[in-house]
Amino acid sequence: MPSTAPHLGNSIASRDIASLLHPYTNLKAHESVGPMVITGGRGVTVVDDAGREYIEGVAGLWCTSLGFDEPRLVEAAVRQLRTLPFYHAFAHKSHEPGIELAEKLVALAPVPMSKAFFACSGSEANDTAVKLVWYYNNALGRPQKKKIIGRIKAYHGVTVASASLTGLPNNHRDFDLPIDRILHTDCPHWYRFHEEGEDEEAFASRLAASLEALIQREGPETVAAFIAEPVMGAGGVIVPPRTYFEKVQAVLRKYDVLLIADEVICGFGRTGAMFGSETFGLKPDIMTMAKALTSAYMPLSAVLVSEPIYRACVTESEKIGVFGHGYTYSGHPVSCAVALETLKIYEERDLVAHARTVGARLQEALGRFRSHPLVGEVRGVGLIAGVELVADKATRQPFDPKLGVAARLAGFAQGHGVILRPIGDTLGFSPPLIITPEEVDELVARFGRALDDTTAWLE
Ligand code: PLP
Repeated sequence: MPSTAPHLGNSIASRDIASLLHPYTNLKAHESVGPMVITGGRGVTVVDDAGREYIEGVAGLWCTSLGFDEPRLVEAAVRQLRTLPFYHAFAHKSHEPGIELAEKLVALAPVPMSKAFFACSGSEANDTAVKLVWYYNNALGRPQKKKIIGRIKAYHGVTVASASLTGLPNNHRDFDLPIDRILHTDCPHWYRFHEEGEDEEAFASRLAASLEALIQREGPETVAAFIAEPVMGAGGVIVPPRTYFEKVQAVLRKYDVLLIADEVICGFGRTGAMFGSETFGLKPDIMTMAKALTSAYMPLSAVLVSEPIYRACVTESEKIGVFGHGYTYSGHPVSCAVALETLKIYEERDLVAHARTVGARLQEALGRFRSHPLVGEVRGVGLIAGVELVADKATRQPFDPKLGVAARLAGFAQGHGVILRPIGDTLGFSPPLIITPEEVDELVARFGRALDDTTAWLE
């Protein structure tokens, strides 16, 4: 089919428009705008097909923690491809990279975990978590205890159950989601949702009380689990207010509600600790992780489960005859080999401590924009940050969404050689963990130029 953008001729852009259905893209706009084709990368930068270089301020999709040319990961993949390119874990089969990675993740977990289950994406990991929660309560003879509570603005993926857990309208609208038994509670964004005179701790208390009220309204005997990202990522980089998780977990314990920590973005150093659960004191029963597990060089996700949940799975599978869940690529050996090498590199280079140090520099440098007239809030922890733009600083009045101010800023930033993530009126930052202090300064300087361009554009 010929491209609807004739000015692109038979270019790679035109071929893209003619054949590729793009995830997370305005498909109508894409027909005239066309793609940005990335051809390579080095360190924290990527290069497009015109030879322009960009600092990847979001590590792709919050994931390429070791940058874009780590040779050891390539070698690990090739080594494994030569040894055993595929095997599965169904019906008692196994392989060494899968076993070793499961051991390693269980050992790394910040709370006692029993087993690791593998999948390919964050969405599949969260879907698995939902199914395990249901399985668990069936094993315990509580078939009515099935509802799972997510949060407004949370992001947990796009498969049917994961998209339902996600609390963003565009992931539900016209996809006929969410499915039943999935509920959403308040978004813990103090800057946007606090009441007059309410400090962070009072706000956290109000949200915990609201969660408790929801559980009581639904009936505690029907509520099975609560899922949370330690820091909300794709919802706008929302750092929980002080005491939030402490108060929420007290409510969960009171009503025997499981906690699922979605560590898909926060896991493996992003917040300055190995897991976001450590940074914010979460004691999860289930943890899901992906992205930086392989530095995104191969698709892989993991679900860690506590001993009681594992025991419930054993009970059910004994009763039914099989644990009827698993993917062809659950624990793909090449992905597992790359993950093992990734974890080795994190350890050898002490990249969690590095993320803490350069992260502090990023937060401080971005913090200098707090006084800028367009900046409402600068928030973040470790190497993840968000800068929220506002039409009126004093009243926190947002811009008219039709203006697409953050997207416009991201466009200017691209012109200055940096890729950022616009989310509503917020710009998201989540550079590769290997970023140097000098590269942090350069990233922030380029963002500053884009902010100046945005100011001029708005005038
Ligand atoms: N959970 C979180 C916190 C995420 O940020 C994402 C993706 O960005 C997912 C789950 C879904 O992961 P995937 O896109 O690999 O399905």
